[in-house]
Amino acid sequence: MLREGMKEMLRCIRCGACMNHCVVFRQLGGHVYGGTYPGPMGAVLTPVFDGLEKSRDLPHACTMNGKCQEVCPVAIPLPTLLRGWRDRSWREGLEPSAVRFGLGIHTFVAARPRLYRLGTAIAIRVMRLFSRGGVIKGMPGLGAWTAYREFPAPAKRTFMEMYKDQEKGQ
Ligand code: SF4
Repeated sequence: MLREGMKEMLRCIRCGACMNHCVVFRQLGGHVYGGTYPGPMGAVLTPVFDGLEKSRDLPHACTMNGKCQEVCPVAIPLPTLLRGWRDRSWREGLEPSAVRFGLGIHTFVAARPRLYRLGTAIAIRVMRLFSRGGVIKGMPGLGAWTAYREFPAPAKRTFMEMYKDQEKGQ
């Protein structure tokens, strides 16, 4: 762990607090982590034990909400360590070309607010076409997700719409 730049992880006392507060672990359970240690601590530890090539999905599953670090009794900066794995995975070329291509498009669109708004407006309308009872059970492009679980339908109003109303005092 010292060699991998994960020395803070040596403070871990395996209390499990980070797991119990992790939104990903709470949705998925422990088996999907595929190693001895699940949750945020597992997402940091398993690449050390099994190699990043085999377990690069674990650091990428994190939402970076920071709750794990907040509750860790020995103040391990778990999100920072996970970001370190992501960074390394990128630099070592372990990301599939489809991910690199998708991120390139996202970077291009996210830097152009008008294009971003147009893209999200179209995506929301398309997703609504596939929504039934507040969930999407199948849709082109969501196959890997909807094969095992439902995908939440888009909310009736977007965050930006609500934000604009709030700014107007409504
Ligand atoms: S909360 Fe901190 S000490 Fe407890 S298991 Fe997670 S990383 Fe280890």
